[in-house]
Amino acid sequence: MHIQDGRIAKIYMGPEIPAMVDTFDATGLFLMPGLIDMHVHLVWDGSPDPLGTMKAEGPNIAMARGIANARKSLAQGVTTIRDVGSVNDVGIDIAKIFASGLLFGPTVVAAGRIIQPTGGHVPDLGYIADSHDELVKAVRYLKMRGASVIKVASTGGAYGPEEIGPSVYPQKDLEIVVNEARRLGLRVASHSLGKIGIENAVRAGINTIEHGADISMEILREMKQKETCLIPTLAVYKKLSESSGVIPELYVAKSKTVVRWHKETFRNAMDIGSPIALGTDAGSPNFGPHPSVFLEMVTMVEYGMKPSDVLKAATKTAAEALGREHEIGTIETGKKADILLLKENPLEDIAKMQNICQVIKSGIML
Ligand SMILES: [Zn+2]
Repeated sequence: MHIQDGRIAKIYMGPEIPAMVDTFDATGLFLMPGLIDMHVHLVWDGSPDPLGTMKAEGPNIAMARGIANARKSLAQGVTTIRDVGSVNDVGIDIAKIFASGLLFGPTVVAAGRIIQPTGGHVPDLGYIADSHDELVKAVRYLKMRGASVIKVASTGGAYGPEEIGPSVYPQKDLEIVVNEARRLGLRVASHSLGKIGIENAVRAGINTIEHGADISMEILREMKQKETCLIPTLAVYKKLSESSGVIPELYVAKSKTVVRWHKETFRNAMDIGSPIALGTDAGSPNFGPHPSVFLEMVTMVEYGMKPSDVLKAATKTAAEALGREHEIGTIETGKKADILLLKENPLEDIAKMQNICQVIKSGIML
């Protein structure tokens, strides 16, 4: 393979490899595209109370923490990160810092704050919008701020006092967000756990359903037809459901419900063939340090996915869900040279993903 200006310039098959300068001999190693984590919170530290840490630190240190977390993730093979919720929109600044070359890091696709109604999920990361005018203004503000994706919450969450069942926005409100974002060239991700909130989001034309715990067969078929991608984030809820005595018991109980829903929905989504991409919710309460991709991969296999499909969810399908399949997600001429080299074959055992021996980001060897 010939890498030039950060891209894959040419792939040589067979013995006719020409003499090149600055060569790296990868004989006997396994090569794959860099990983894409579709759902992280860079400013959070994964401790039992990341919100408390964030509030105590303030937004400047939160940004420094986010940069450190992004670079830690890159070192372990995550070459593209989608940040779907940060305090003061600092995720957007982190994306700009890496994109401008001010600091070296992964590609970050950032949403900034999460559009949500009064009484919604994690208001500390929220842009509160209740009326139709406020929803339009929220999307326009985030676009102006530099967001590359819009995140909205259509239901409550497990980590918080609110209910996870009901939809917090009617379908019409979500359509307003989708239409305004689309007009401005942005895709929309929706935090959606309960059945009705997911149904409203899918019908409104949302691009990615985050968490997607309780999805009916009818809506899964509609997701396949519309190419709405499911980002299940399985491991974080499993971890929360096992965190009795560490986080509030109400949150543990809600997470147990989510895990029960997840197991069935994930299996149905695989059977129907709805697109599934890997997202972790890295940084979330009691989830441990960034990155969390390995844990999510193991959980996806545990819930019935083949290792080859897990790797596809973490590369090709994720790139498609971002709308960046022309840039990343596969090893092809012209694409960004975001590449991993492994000592052993992860298709045989997903545990081999822990043994990445070389990360290459935009042609630069770490
Ligand atoms: Zn999240």
